[in-house]
Amino acid sequence: TTRSRNCYCSVPQCSNNKKNIPYLRFHDFPADAETRAQWETAIGRDEGPNFKILHGSTSVCSQHFSSEETYVSASGRKKLKKKAVPSKYPWNDWGKGKMTVFKLVINY
Ligand SMILES: [Zn+2]
Repeated sequence: TTRSRNCYCSVPQCSNNKKNIPYLRFHDFPADAETRAQWETAIGRDEGPNFKILHGSTSVCSQHFSSEETYVSASGRKKLKKKAVPSKYPWNDWGKGKMTVFKLVINY
């Protein structure tokens, strides 16, 4: 197909896509079923009629990954670690709210 490839970030409230921010990296959902399920839980979406994960267009932009979740490969490209799960979102103040989330969890 000659249709130009565009990647969209599938995180709710994030409107980044390859057209409006070409320099941003967009990461495909992992092929590994377990990690993929963790991504879906992390972004709060389930694959179904309203949300389909398509290779090459449904992705998560690199803004949602912390620096601990990425590494620079030998060729100098920024890549995701194998079990990396996106963790920075508008609703958790881009990861700064992690401690608050942790507190809530241990209070149960
Ligand atoms: Zn995004």
